[in-house]
Amino acid sequence: ILTIKLVLLGESAVGKSSIVLRFVSDDFRESREPTIGAAFLTKRIIRDDKVIKFEIWDTAGQERFAPLAPMYYRNAQAALVVFDVTDDGSFHKAQDWIQELHEKVGDNIVIALVGNKIDLLNIQGENSNRAVKEAELQNLCKRENLLYFEASAKTGENIHEIFQKLGQKIPYPQKCT
Ligand code: GDP
Ligand code: MG
Repeated sequence: ILTIKLVLLGESAVGKSSIVLRFVSDDFRESREPTIGAAFLTKRIIRDDKVIKFEIWDTAGQERFAPLAPMYYRNAQAALVVFDVTDDGSFHKAQDWIQELHEKVGDNIVIALVGNKIDLLNIQGENSNRAVKEAELQNLCKRENLLYFEASAKTGENIHEIFQKLGQKIPYPQKCT
């Protein structure tokens, strides 16, 4: 078994807990139950006939919990930094998290940026709700060497792909445990 410790970071209400719920239980809730502190969940997937166990720390986005974040990302091999594609403020917050990860954990962590809630993009016509320009996203991803996914915890689009790709990015340890 390869174990991957993963942390979710990002502003409140962008859908971090919903992404985890979709991945772990293939479920979605419209109602909002803010995470207090952090939640721990695990999920196993198969990759190349081997088992990968994700140990997931889903953190709270509220400012008062921000000082706790280093406890969760310090030992993580992967981070999902989540923003809401219809909310420019949440994108700026995501950039702050990426900055902090680079300063505090450097190259020892694989970072995936996730633009969530893509189901909301086209409600009033062609991409009218998209708050972040694609060029801006591309620049950030190139500059910071990020994986980038657009997803919807509500419809399930791309959620499993995020974890599959992360699983591929993290090398097997020399000795299996
Ligand atoms: P967190 O604070 O980042 O953990 O966000 P939550 O997972 O608690 O979600 C906040 C709110 O956004 C909830 O009401 C969810 O139902 C809703 N939500 C989460 N993901 C999506 C999504 O992909 N699409 C839509 N339309 N709503 C979502
Ligand atoms: Mg939450």
